[in-house]
Amino acid sequence: MSQYTPMMQQYLSIKAAHQDAFLFFRLGDFYEMFFEDAVKASQILEITLTSREGGQNGRIPMCGVPYHSSAGYIKVLVENGYKVAICEQVEDPKQAVGVVRREVVQIITPGTVIDDHLLQDRENNYLVSIDKQGDSYAYILCDLSTGEMKGYLYEGSHLPFIQLLLSQGIKEIVGDQSLHNEWYDYLSQNGQASISIQSDSEIEGKFSHLAENITPPLLLKAAGRLFQYLSFTQKRSFHHLKAVEYQQNEKRMKLDAFSKRNLELTESIRAKGKKGSLLWLLDATMTAMGARKLKQWVEEPLFVKETIEKRLQLVENLIGEFFIREEMKEQLKSVYDMERLIAKISYGNASPRDLVQLRRSLQSVPVIREKINQIDGDYARNLYEKMTDHGELADFLASALCEEAPIQIKDGGIIKKGFNAKLDEYKDASMNGKEWIASLEQQEKAATGIKSLKIGFNKIFGYFIEVTRSNLSMVPEDRYERKQTLANAERYVTPELKEKERIILEAEDKISGLEYSLFLEVREHVKQYIPGLQQLAAAISELDVVQSFASISEQYHYVRPVISENGNVNIVGGRHPVVEKVMDAQEYVPNDIHLNNERNMLLITGPNMAGKSTYMRQLALTSVMMQIGCFVPAESAELPMFDQIFTRIGAADDLVGGQSTFMVEMLETNFALTSATENSLILLDEIGRGTSTYDGMALAQSIIEFIHEKIKAKTLFSTHYHELTVLEKTLPSLQNVFVSAVEENGRLVFLHKVIDGQADKSFGIQVAELAELPEAVIRRAKTILNSYENQQRNEPDPSIKEISATEEEVMESQLSLFSENHSQKIRKEPKEVDVIKELRSINLLEMTPMDAMNVIYKLQGKLK
Ligand code: ADP
Repeated sequence: MSQYTPMMQQYLSIKAAHQDAFLFFRLGDFYEMFFEDAVKASQILEITLTSREGGQNGRIPMCGVPYHSSAGYIKVLVENGYKVAICEQVEDPKQAVGVVRREVVQIITPGTVIDDHLLQDRENNYLVSIDKQGDSYAYILCDLSTGEMKGYLYEGSHLPFIQLLLSQGIKEIVGDQSLHNEWYDYLSQNGQASISIQSDSEIEGKFSHLAENITPPLLLKAAGRLFQYLSFTQKRSFHHLKAVEYQQNEKRMKLDAFSKRNLELTESIRAKGKKGSLLWLLDATMTAMGARKLKQWVEEPLFVKETIEKRLQLVENLIGEFFIREEMKEQLKSVYDMERLIAKISYGNASPRDLVQLRRSLQSVPVIREKINQIDGDYARNLYEKMTDHGELADFLASALCEEAPIQIKDGGIIKKGFNAKLDEYKDASMNGKEWIASLEQQEKAATGIKSLKIGFNKIFGYFIEVTRSNLSMVPEDRYERKQTLANAERYVTPELKEKERIILEAEDKISGLEYSLFLEVREHVKQYIPGLQQLAAAISELDVVQSFASISEQYHYVRPVISENGNVNIVGGRHPVVEKVMDAQEYVPNDIHLNNERNMLLITGPNMAGKSTYMRQLALTSVMMQIGCFVPAESAELPMFDQIFTRIGAADDLVGGQSTFMVEMLETNFALTSATENSLILLDEIGRGTSTYDGMALAQSIIEFIHEKIKAKTLFSTHYHELTVLEKTLPSLQNVFVSAVEENGRLVFLHKVIDGQADKSFGIQVAELAELPEAVIRRAKTILNSYENQQRNEPDPSIKEISATEEEVMESQLSLFSENHSQKIRKEPKEVDVIKELRSINLLEMTPMDAMNVIYKLQGKLK
């Protein structure tokens, strides 16, 4: 160390404690960076790398950004996932002995930013703190910019867990060293979130109220880690943090990252944006707070009947009150982002303009309250009660702040006349002085007869009287005192002008000082309202989401769903809401979905592009919509609450997204098979497609059997293996359905209608024809298909036997795995299948040998 200058020694010791951040070291009007920080930052920020004398070792790399424009540079670094430690001078340089004392006053990290320009209006900015024990995780999502914290428990291996977190747009992960070691590689390859280390820590007394709603020890550990990290990075108190809300698993529908993605809940798969997602469809919110709340709801559908019914009831009541709803929406438009304004007030960052926005928001509240009061129902009442209108605070802010208050707090123009007598006095003095000066020009023109005489002001010389050279002879030398000589004019002052100027400048100096301190007082005063304002903001955001549901439900003719208690799904005239929205509504073909405990699996066949995936997703989206409390796209709908939804799509489809391989598909299928319950919904789209035909078909069949026998979850399984449709005969709860298509004049026409039964043709070549493949290719394909069909009619494929162990399985697989034509033949003669069924149902232990002989005789007779 000693080889460096004292200031560099100071820098190095502070940097040692902030290895993982860029250290912005305050030097006069600049934040400087040194050594590696400087080299790296100069590249990222595209600023010049210079150097500075550092001691015996010569020059040190350096780069810097001006203090006044630092925000933009900090934004770039933070958006790239870096942290910035702001190191300020903490003593007056004039009083300092030796090097001025400096300290890090805040560490800005991707998960702790609260400045507007670093945040997305309609999205939360989450930091997550994690604790782990074996395969059990506890985690807390914290959005410092809104003060919200939510606690969760999670069981499972780390990869799906990380993916789940990333699917929620987490910006930063905080864990201990071992979590860091385990996750770092994955996170650095998969971008998006940075990871920070924070050692274990007890919950400090000053934070204990924030953990009052949580009891699981692992979650309390995650809370301790979080609070410690916030304290360390932010170095201040947090008036706006709300107690952690414990989100119990049994109260939520569980959705893994893949299912969320595949259902396009918040982001479309292809365009990777909000457009085309369920969130996009449902978002008719008027406020940024409502938009964020909506996203939270879409990401976490409920599993609590009363809460769902409560929301549905309010949606219904709001649909019934068009005019009240419209007026309410109008008022909601004038509500600013109160949650983030409150965070800024708590931080001591709120600008005068922020407080004016708070006041304007509060002025809308009485009307919103009055409107919600006119709506029936407990939920409406409950929201009404939470909406204290804070009239007294609104009045106070109205009396204190100018309508057009600025963003800067040091430039004046903030405090309104009448708020503070002393300030008004100074303002009057300044105003009078200025008026006097304004009238001086006329007076002096008259007194001297100089028509071109002017009064002017500049920062160095203050006020002056300017006379052009040609008029100098008319200057009254006794009264005018020469101040400045220009090329073609002279500038003068008079004793009265000097006196007025003194009064004005003194008053203005006092005004800006006083305005500044009055503003700080006003802002401090608002702090005491934080809890009430947060409750108000929460109620407004919920109302905004529910009114959005009502507006969208009315616009697209959705209906209130009935929550089934016995697992029945009866959807009549159901639609896929997003597909319907993006196409001409006339063209969408509605479909029914019927499932119950005796019919809990649909095996869906039909040509490519017929609408199989759309039909399956339709059910999942309808469930999600119901479980977030929205009406659903159907003529009528009864469906149970699902505890989880799993969706797996075959590798062939997924490759379009450049994502998956057959292995990933199998891992994900495994996740569904091991986690689903009989209350879950499973969508398996073309499973087995990513491998060879018989492999794929065998896997598909065994997966279907497993779900049918063991899990009994409601399942939609689409497949292009028509051979699997024979399973209907042996699996009592499985029903074949197919999406119809017809050939008209040799062309394939999709009807998009889902009907019980199985498709008897796969129409692959017709789809190829629609895609306008060269005619020669189509002709040749038809010939090849013909010859395959003839071959298979004559000789069954020997490979079938390899996947069948017992005699019975050989027979079954022959029945199920033969070619399309063969299965058609079987369909015409179902007696063999009946014989197998009967054989299965025989209980040999209860039979005499004679009975057995009789049964065999009878069965043989059936086969003749
Ligand atoms: P598949 O899974 O059978 O290959 P998709 O479900 O992907 O087919 O549907 C293909 C396209 O057909 C969709 O993008 C949509 O435009 C259209 N489609 C699907 N279902 C319907 C429907 N019920 N009504 C109208 N168009 C539909």
